[in-house]
Amino acid sequence: MKLYNSRTQEQVSFVEAVKQGLGRERGLFCPTFIPIYTNINEILEMPFVMRSQTIMRSFIEDEIGGSKVDDLVRKAFTFMPQLVRATPRMFALELYHGPTLAFKDFGARFMAQCLASFAGKEKITILTATSGDTGAAVADAFYGLDNIRVVILYPKGKISPLQEKLFCTLGKNINTLAVDGDFDSCQEMVKTAFSDNELCSKIKLNSANSINISRLLAQICYYFEGVARFRDFYGDKVLPVISVPCGNFGNITAGFYAKALGLPIKRFVATTNANDTVPRFLKTSKWEPHKTIATMTNAMDVSEPSNWERVTEHFNKMLVHAKGNNWQMNEDNIEGISISDLQTAGAMKALHKNGYVAEPHTALASCGLSKSLKENEAGIFLSTAHPAKFKEKIEEVLGIQIFLPDKLNKAASKKVLSENIPSDYNVLKEYLLN
Ligand SMILES: *Cc1c(COP(=O)(O)O)cnc(C)c1O
Repeated sequence: MKLYNSRTQEQVSFVEAVKQGLGRERGLFCPTFIPIYTNINEILEMPFVMRSQTIMRSFIEDEIGGSKVDDLVRKAFTFMPQLVRATPRMFALELYHGPTLAFKDFGARFMAQCLASFAGKEKITILTATSGDTGAAVADAFYGLDNIRVVILYPKGKISPLQEKLFCTLGKNINTLAVDGDFDSCQEMVKTAFSDNELCSKIKLNSANSINISRLLAQICYYFEGVARFRDFYGDKVLPVISVPCGNFGNITAGFYAKALGLPIKRFVATTNANDTVPRFLKTSKWEPHKTIATMTNAMDVSEPSNWERVTEHFNKMLVHAKGNNWQMNEDNIEGISISDLQTAGAMKALHKNGYVAEPHTALASCGLSKSLKENEAGIFLSTAHPAKFKEKIEEVLGIQIFLPDKLNKAASKKVLSENIPSDYNVLKEYLLN
């Protein structure tokens, strides 16, 4: 598969795009072409891993061979998404049954498999910024691979203590830096590193952020599983509306790719917290990011989502691809809804009344869905983290006790090994060259 750089238009192979992560001039790699499946029913009937192999093959088999693709998918996807009925017309697609209990395990594990396989003997530094769950997923996916050094930046004091424990206590090839700033400033430092030619000539840098195309491809697969299981309830008569809790907009970009492949989805709801740059943009066509606001859904505290550029590219390209029929960036395809912390807490309570316990990001997505659903519609909200990862918040809002799964219990007793750094690129650079 060929991908193009959104800024320079130059084309590279999939292997090259995975290894580079971010392209020249900070461009994002985007597919030059997305196939359209004509056998969608057949694909939906396959078991999860086999279906995911089929989907990934349709993108990269021509380049790396079918058996290699199958191998990468089998090693990465060692757990399953689960579709659970949360209210009569709303289903949670639980994506958190992986090793670090967050949906980011899907993308991070597939990317780690790809990189380990493509890098060979080259020594690679994975440099990434996290607002929470990416860190854990990336650290876990790369832990112990000795040709890979992982450096993770996160906003100090702005992620949950348990999240911090999950990825800052590992040691070995996993290095964590607590930055005095917010997620956007961490992200800015990472971006600066990637555009620093001097640095890049000395070390082989790679980003494991949601900007890496391998992660997005992997994430396409769970949308198929969601729709397949939704059909167990509704057959093919009702198409689901899918609400995605959006931060950096990687997750929903994968959803758009899934729809472009032919997956029957009625429309997407891009649900954000108070960092509502995209919902405002969808209403006014003006891109006016505000300062990032800290909210209860901290993994989504992003006011300048880096994957939005891919969404824009996608709609422009697909307009050409699908002859404009169904791919305008309008309410029929994407609705933007911003949810306040108060509404998120309300949604947690409403779900709990129905017997479903959700952490804030998931509850926010359900709130976006319930606002969007019309009378004759049903839908899916993506459940992006295990309730135990936001234990304190849930206990505070719902007044119930949440027990930690074993994995979290073990991490909780370990010592945080992070170093503190100021929000200053030169400090980071020195660290990386050390
Ligand atoms: C990362 C994250 C999100 C946002 O996903 P994006 O792909 O960045 O839009 C939502 N919920 C949780 C729990 C996350 O960790």
